[in-house]
Amino acid sequence: MLRDGGLVAFPTETVYGLGANALDARAAARIFEAKARPSFDPLITHLADTADLERLVGPVPAAVAALAGRFWPGPLTLIVDRPVEIPPIVTSGLDTMAVRVPDEPSARALIRAAGVPVAAPSANRFGQLSPTRAEHVVQGLGAAVDVVLDGGATRCGIESTIVDARGPQPVVLRLGALALEDLVAAVGPVSVRPGSSGQPVAPGTLAAHYAPRTPLRVVSGVEPPPGDGRRRGFLAFREAPAGGYAAVEVLSPGGDVTEAAARLFDALHRLDAAGVTEIHAEPAPEQGVGRAINDRLRRAAATWSAPD
Ligand code: AMP
Ligand code: MG
Repeated sequence: MLRDGGLVAFPTETVYGLGANALDARAAARIFEAKARPSFDPLITHLADTADLERLVGPVPAAVAALAGRFWPGPLTLIVDRPVEIPPIVTSGLDTMAVRVPDEPSARALIRAAGVPVAAPSANRFGQLSPTRAEHVVQGLGAAVDVVLDGGATRCGIESTIVDARGPQPVVLRLGALALEDLVAAVGPVSVRPGSSGQPVAPGTLAAHYAPRTPLRVVSGVEPPPGDGRRRGFLAFREAPAGGYAAVEVLSPGGDVTEAAARLFDALHRLDAAGVTEIHAEPAPEQGVGRAINDRLRRAAATWSAPD
């Protein structure tokens, strides 16, 4: 189906991807259409094996090769020069390309069997919650997808970390499932550029993104709701509030940021379905993948505070 220009949603270790043949401009165009994704938001190309990188793009800078060698397969997306084989629509006209090897055996088997690089953004409509289960994809995209491969809940539950390591110091373009601490331990100091305005280098970094349909507000901690009788939901990091909320999700009773990240979008999908008028979300500790959780919560909240 991929070779024929079809759209195949598949699980990776981060979230479900909406895959198309990255060598086929028409197939890539179908991704933008299915997601209602603006054409300025470039796609991540997925490869089956680390060795496929230089086969596709030729020699890459030493720091890029080192990061690929250290963290692939895994939730790290790297920026490289776009090879001529990849049509510009995949990279939204940029002369660079985002690329990674997912750490999910079925995804790698799929890409290997297709025999082509697979462009795959998250399998949700633009700006909405990322899918961490096959059901989320079916609910969100329905008939726009040709097939959804069901691999159950994804392991990380949050998108890949995007790093541009072509310059003198690596730049983190999007916080994600590979913890900043692990990156720094491997390569030394990095800068973090959440770039949320102007021409987006990484639209996963648009100020407003990753949003539930229900208005979401980041609160400072577990606190009772205002007593105005409205039905509200609460997204707790570790401990449920004593009462007053119509629906509550606890991300990690043991206080583990990795477990919390794995549950984040699933919990938000459930709160979204709970018929509440507003979701209050408690931030995670600002460490490890907790940073990526907080990044997603801020952007979800921004959707609802942005002037229109
Ligand atoms: P998604 O898979 O939907 O989370 O989106 C993929 C993310 O990768 C988006 O935030 C893209 O903007 C980002 N991305 C893709 N290509 C590039 C690139 N060439 N340079 C920087 N970021 C990119
Ligand atoms: Mg996305």
